[in-house]
This record gives sequence, structure tokens and C-alpha cells, in this order.
Amino acid sequence: MSFILTKEQKMIIQLAKSFAEKELAPIAEEMDKNAKFAPGLVQKVADIGLLGMNIPTEYGGAGVDEVTKALVIMEIAKVDASVAELIAVHTLTNDIIMRNGTEEQKEKYLRWGATGGVGAFALTEPNAGSDAAAARTKAVVDGDDYIINGTKCFISNMGAEEGDYVILIALTDPAKKTKGMSAIIVDRTTPGFEIGKVEDKMGLRAAPVSELVFSDCRVPRTQLLGKEGRGFMIAMAGLDGGRIGMASQGVGIAEGAIESAVAYSKQRVQFGKPINANQGLQWYLADMATRTEAAKMLTLNAADRRQHGEDIGKLAAMAKYYASENAVWVTNKSLQIHGGYGYMKDYAIERQYRDARIVPLYEGTSEVQKMVISRAVINGK
Ligand SMILES: Cc1cc2nc3c(=O)[nH]c(=O)nc-3n(C[C@H](O)[C@H](O)[C@H](O)COP(=O)(O)OP(=O)(O)OC[C@H]3O[C@@H](n4cnc5c(N)ncnc54)[C@H](O)[C@@H]3O)c2cc1C
Repeated sequence: MSFILTKEQKMIIQLAKSFAEKELAPIAEEMDKNAKFAPGLVQKVADIGLLGMNIPTEYGGAGVDEVTKALVIMEIAKVDASVAELIAVHTLTNDIIMRNGTEEQKEKYLRWGATGGVGAFALTEPNAGSDAAAARTKAVVDGDDYIINGTKCFISNMGAEEGDYVILIALTDPAKKTKGMSAIIVDRTTPGFEIGKVEDKMGLRAAPVSELVFSDCRVPRTQLLGKEGRGFMIAMAGLDGGRIGMASQGVGIAEGAIESAVAYSKQRVQFGKPINANQGLQWYLADMATRTEAAKMLTLNAADRRQHGEDIGKLAAMAKYYASENAVWVTNKSLQIHGGYGYMKDYAIERQYRDARIVPLYEGTSEVQKMVISRAVINGK
């Protein structure tokens, strides 16, 4: 396995890097403070092709491979983890629609998703977090429609302004439990679908996360993704890819925090010399860089193998587990290197530290990743 990039891959990653540096870096702090994306930003992200990057060209996307997608998310997360979240979740919905959608669904949602439509993925409910199988939202067949009732919580990419459609996991046959769950695409404008509480979060403040409330929400049965009863499988397979996105976000946040630490430790003088002249801090930097490179390799390995059609359940869980815990560890060390100044909002590390903290929590907590990894290890996979 080698991650020597082609000219095309390098061009796309460079595009993301310069977008992050020129367009996101100047506004990242303000968006964090305002707890929302700057006006028009989501459309800009779509216009440069990042929302549709994993959509095949025949549906208007860039058709990039999994490794390129991971590296793009890293570049964005290095500068602004909220925008990386927007892209990671949206590209997860693209992926699920590509793998499971009918031709009509692909024509509608992939074209829309490549040009500015924002997708969300809704599995979690108030009583079904790590135990996603406990989800209770129901979609009851009524003629040619489903009637949906239930509440989803903590749903990314859905907020007061953002979010156009959601891949909803709901019970179409409650007696069969997970085998009775189905994946249904619901447009935001559908009567009976409301955005409930918009969460006020510790980090990723610009990225919207909301409660979704479905009350007698009528959706045509043509909105079903794949077959009835396959929703849980679709969600779990989608999350394998999603976890690579989250691992990429963790790697990017860690890389950004290393850059912050290097810049600060060069210019901060104590005891008559820059603080980075102290071997104690140099060793922090060595550990931060080494662990982050390891997280990156785990992530790219999972991405590359997914691209080649392998079952990457264990590898994606390893990448997500390691890269997310590393993001928390590295941002903490970087903050330490900043001393008291790192605790102030004047320095990017204060935001990077808060942003990192979500990564071991969502798309499966670290404990859940360890359940997935240990199950595979025990079963000799
Ligand atoms: C900012 C944000 C964005 C999110 N975006 C989305 C989204 O877009 N779509 C979506 O569907 N969900 C989303 N989520 C939900 C997220 O995936 C869940 O929060 C997560 O799966 C954990 O569920 P929980 O919060 O209910 O915690 P719980 O499941 O209640 O877990 C609490 C603690 O108990 C531990 N625990 C639970 N069970 C076990 C066990 N068997 N063994 C060991 N430890 C265990 C957990 O690891 C955790 O430490 C988001 C959450 C947040 C905070």
C-alpha cells in the first residue's frame, strides 16, 4: 500500500487547502463566536466542488476516491472543524444514496447534493444513542405513502438555516426490531417535519445540530432507500465510511493544533529564549507529530481499502477511535504549550481544543469503536 498521490489528487487537495487558508481561516473565529456559518459559505463550499466531491461525475460531482476525500476533510478540519463536519456528514449522505438509491433518487439528490443541497443522516434518538437498535421512530405504510412519527436528536447539518433533506432510519416493521428498520429520504419542506431544538454546543459551534420532529409526516414510498427492513444495515455500512470522515476530521484538528503549537512556541520567549528551545516541549511536539502521523495512516489505510471494496468495519473503527482520541490528546498538549494564553479566545487553540472534544463522541463513541474492534479481533477478522 502506498499513498503517493496522483497529479489530480494533489490538485484537489491543494484546492481544499487554499480554500481553507484564504476563505475559512479569516472567518473561523467569528463563525465560532456567532455559532453559525457565514452567509453564503455553504454555497461557496458547494461551488468549489467539496460537497459533491464523492458524487460521480455523471451526477454532477467530482467523483474523487476515498483517500482524496479523507485528505480533503483533513485540510479543511486543520483550519475549521465545523466546515469539515458539514462536508463529512454531507458526503456520508452522498455515499449512502450512491450505494442504495434508485436512478430517480440519484438524479434528484446527488445532483442537488453536488450543487448546494445539504444532506443529513438521522439515526440517534433521545433513548437510542450508542444503542441505535433501540430507535423508536415509526414509518407506517398508508397506501402509497409512509406516515412518520417520532423524534431524532443531535442531527448534524440540520439547523435554523441549513439542511435540505435527511436520510431517516425508522421502523417500518417494529416487531422485527433492527430487521424492521428502513432508510427513507425526507425533504425538509415536507409537512409534518419540523426542526426542534437547535443545540447550543461546546465546540463545532458553527455547524448546526438539531432535533428533528416528525408528526404524521407523509412521505411517498418512492422515498425508500434500498429495500424495506434494510435500513439498519444501510446505516451501519454507511457509518463505516462515515467513521473514516470523522477520523479525517480528528487528524485535521490535530494537525491544526500542531501548527498552532509550533507557531506559538517559536515566538514565546521565557527565561531569555523561545520556549521551543526547551527539550521538554520539543518532545511534546515529537509525540504530537508521531501520533498524528499514525492516526493519518490508519485513516488512509481504511479509506484505501474501502475504495477497493474491502470490508473495513474494524479498520474504520480503529481509525476513528485512534484519530479522535489523538485529536483530544494533541489539542490538550498544544494548549499546554500555549500556557495561560491558550485558555484565552485570542488563540486558535482554544477553539481547536473544544472542537476536538466531539470527535470521540459521535458516529459511535470510543467505547463503541472498541466494541466493534474487539468483536472483530475475537472473531479472528
Ligand atoms: C455534536 C453532535 C453531532 C451529532 N450528529 C449526529 C448525526 O448527524 N446523526 C445521528 O444520528 N447522530 C448524531 N449524533 C449522536 C451521536 O452519534 C451520539 O451522541 C453517540 O452515538 C452517543 O450516544 P449518546 O450521546 O446517547 O450517549 P450514550 O449512548 O448514552 O453513552 C453515554 C456513555 O456510555 C457509554 N456506553 C454506552 N453503552 C456502552 C457499552 N455497552 N459499553 C461501554 N460503554 C458504553 C458511551 O460510550 C458513553 O461514554 C451527534 C452527537 C453530537 C454530540
